[in-house]
Amino acid sequence: MRLTKQRKIILDRLKKTTSHPTAVEVYDEVRSQMPNISLGTVYRNLDILSRQGMIRKIETCGEQKRFDGNIDPHLHIMCTDCGCVRDVHDELNLDLDDLTSIKTDFKITGLRLELLGICPGCASDK
Ligand SMILES: [Zn+2]
Ligand SMILES: [Zn+2]
Repeated sequence: MRLTKQRKIILDRLKKTTSHPTAVEVYDEVRSQMPNISLGTVYRNLDILSRQGMIRKIETCGEQKRFDGNIDPHLHIMCTDCGCVRDVHDELNLDLDDLTSIKTDFKITGLRLELLGICPGCASDK
């Protein structure tokens, strides 16, 4: 698959960070390498990359969408104080079949789960 130069730089940035940046944060970072890039272009490339399955779009964890270069299945935990998002690498076995007992007339196709907590930085501020 051919990547445009811009898209490759955006992808590289996301692969190198575990901070789960928002589109605006990605934009701020890649501008050092591509001073002329627009926020709209960053949005568009993030969208294409996530549709191609090369990055993950996190729709939970706060009001703004965040992006993750790590596409392996993993859980996220969000600090309710500062809003930072971290990975949780513990195994949690959730089976879609377990959800069939939930009373709804929808056909359940997925589950979004985010953990909430206080990050170590915020906890030590108190
Ligand atoms: Zn925090
Ligand atoms: Zn993650």
